[in-house]
Amino acid sequence: MPSSRKAPVIVITGTPGTGKTTHAELLAQESPVPLKHINVGELVKEKGLHEEYDEEWQSYTVDEDKLLDELEPLASEGGIILDWHTCELFPERWADLVVVLRCDHTKLWDRLEKRGYPLKKIQENNQAEIMEVVLDEARSSYAQEIVVELQSEGTEDLESNVARIVQWIEAWQEDREQS
Ligand code: ADP
Repeated sequence: MPSSRKAPVIVITGTPGTGKTTHAELLAQESPVPLKHINVGELVKEKGLHEEYDEEWQSYTVDEDKLLDELEPLASEGGIILDWHTCELFPERWADLVVVLRCDHTKLWDRLEKRGYPLKKIQENNQAEIMEVVLDEARSSYAQEIVVELQSEGTEDLESNVARIVQWIEAWQEDREQS
């Protein structure tokens, strides 16, 4: 983690529908240091950082090199929340904290159905949540002590999770001031 950063890089990851964007938006509002919320999926679309649109999965095949080039200066600077459904692509040195959101699979199913996802995509994501795919990915990509698994089922969870991350940021700042 580069010592020049004045604000951390926080990765918020999890299966689609677990609440990443909702958490990232609230965290950006409540953080004691300025944090820019980067919805990586939106960035990929806006900047055309993809190869082709996969009709079957209704998603883009991301051009990983282009995406990393786009994000590198932002990550080096710090002060960002990276909101994406996968995290293993990001270099380990980028992340100060990796939050993996989890949700009961029946609740997740309802959220994805409301979002209008095709059945196949709902099933795939539901299975991934049950199999803890994103959590495993985070644990195998980053140091154990920076990976935090948090439940995201109700508003109380959202509020307590964000409060917990805010506390973590405050501790991160204090550490910096002392060193
Ligand atoms: P993601 O970014 O992971 O795909 P979203 O933040 O878009 O997920 O959330 C998906 C839906 O679930 C939204 O309607 C959101 O309001 C709801 N949701 C997510 N997390 C929570 C939570 N902890 N409490 C209540 N509703 C939530």
